[in-house]
Amino acid sequence: MSFTDPDTTENTRPTAFRCVLCGLSVPAPGPDGPQRGHCPSCLSSRHVHDQVGSGASDCEGRMTPISVVVPRDHRWRLVHRCVRCDELSESAVADDDNPLVLMRIAVRPLAEPPFPLELLGEV
Ligand SMILES: [Zn+2]
Ligand SMILES: [Zn+2]
Repeated sequence: MSFTDPDTTENTRPTAFRCVLCGLSVPAPGPDGPQRGHCPSCLSSRHVHDQVGSGASDCEGRMTPISVVVPRDHRWRLVHRCVRCDELSESAVADDDNPLVLMRIAVRPLAEPPFPLELLGEV
């Protein structure tokens, strides 16, 4: 951990990284490219930003995609949870993110409802 470069807390632009889960080499985005916070193949991420303190985090745990959210602009966002410290983060879904994995995450609550589905027929 280095405290010599305070600018790194301001610079949240992602650089090239290797996915901690599937090992894919993810190139750094171009100047106009999408902000890439997670692997486009398995959608895993790494805990490198402190969401609460908004600086760098030294946790570096793997972040599992647990859910998608749809804000007002209808552009899906992916919610990650760190497997090491349970912190949540949110990042924009990129155009080349794996649509199959995205859909699997999106329908998971529907596949495992917390109540018997028959209840819906009685409403
Ligand atoms: Zn991956
Ligand atoms: Zn963490």
